[in-house]
Amino acid sequence: MKRRGTARKEPVINLRQKVCIACDRPFSWRKKWKRCWAEVKFCSKRCQSVGRRQFRQDNNNGK
Ligand SMILES: [Zn+2]
Repeated sequence: MKRRGTARKEPVINLRQKVCIACDRPFSWRKKWKRCWAEVKFCSKRCQSVGRRQFRQDNNNGK
């Protein structure tokens, strides 16, 4: 028996959802991120500034 033309189920869910590394909350794809979605790590500009700060401090703290 051969299966033909069966709809493939692929995990597309995670493709358009990420977890903000600043506030740790999931956020969804937005039009404004159309071109840079791969680089988006924060859910908002606010988190972006906060997150960057934290990461800098973490780096400096590294004993
Ligand atoms: Zn956030």
